[in-house]
Amino acid sequence: MSEPEVIMEALHVCKSYPASDGRWLRANEDVSLHLVKGKTLGLVGESGCGKSTFMRFLVALDRPDSGQILYRGQDITALRGEKLRQTRRHIQMVFQDPGASFNPKMRVRDIVCEPLLNFGLIAPKERAAVCRNLLEMVELPGDFEDRYPHSMSGGQRQRVAIARALALQPEILILDEATAALDVSVQKNIIELIVKLQREQGLTIGFICHDIALVQSVAHQVAVMYLGRVVEILPGENLRTQARHPYTRTLIDAVLDLDTDPRKPITVIDSEPPSPLDIPAGCPFRDRCSQCFEKCAQEKPEMRWLSKEHGVACHLFP
Ligand code: ADP
Ligand code: MG
Repeated sequence: MSEPEVIMEALHVCKSYPASDGRWLRANEDVSLHLVKGKTLGLVGESGCGKSTFMRFLVALDRPDSGQILYRGQDITALRGEKLRQTRRHIQMVFQDPGASFNPKMRVRDIVCEPLLNFGLIAPKERAAVCRNLLEMVELPGDFEDRYPHSMSGGQRQRVAIARALALQPEILILDEATAALDVSVQKNIIELIVKLQREQGLTIGFICHDIALVQSVAHQVAVMYLGRVVEILPGENLRTQARHPYTRTLIDAVLDLDTDPRKPITVIDSEPPSPLDIPAGCPFRDRCSQCFEKCAQEKPEMRWLSKEHGVACHLFP
């Protein structure tokens, strides 16, 4: 087997936002992750843990305070103007609620073809034909090109959003809670579509989701985030059996499904995460961790590599 080709790499990324009371909110702290060509990186964690903040750096919609975002070896945080615009072509994003981001007065063909027109890659008269091809790719009928966003279901709108994101034939697709607003059955269809597109086009995907069961089903590698830090990273297929961090275990145990052993007690986190303005010293998870010991209050655990693909930041695994 050939070595995995890393096409995007975040190195020691930090970001803080000013809070209204003059304090600073640490949204990302020393985050290092990478995307491998043709594979999916899942990013999971509770709401507010810093997932979207991080993914915005990958699509160059925002810049970190420190750290690097390398796309094919080039630091995109340093790019400006036309160079930045050209780079963005290769890294596209789909958001949770496409209904909200579409202009209600635009027809589907205008929505889907807008990026191509912006880059001067097609002429306006080519819109309908190009749009039909893109709609076919996301398994929508060609005559949808004539519709307005309000006359489609949530799942159909999300397909249109994916068609639009793929119009420029990007190398990387970032999906930020892209299926969170959909019914479970529709969610499943969209996931199947994404997996199919990845297989056909060799797409590299960043998949953000707060649902660990869903992430596990699509991601080759899963990163678990807690209060702005990556606390564990491991292959998706090993998530259930190999996850070690007490936070990851709690997320997994909180998911009830068919292979849950009914005799096993279910541990759920019954407390809210601490405010990102008040992250405890030492391990950020220690207040909610049942296995916490003295060292956890004193020292922040660094990421330790149990194997080449499995890292965990917890003092239980020195
Ligand atoms: P997630 O996507 O995991 O739910 P976010 O990355 O959106 O989390 O947010 C992480 C933290 O940063 C949250 O506490 C959020 O309130 C805060 N935050 C995000 N964006 C901003 C911003 N532009 N200004 C101030 N605070 C922000
Ligand atoms: Mg988010």
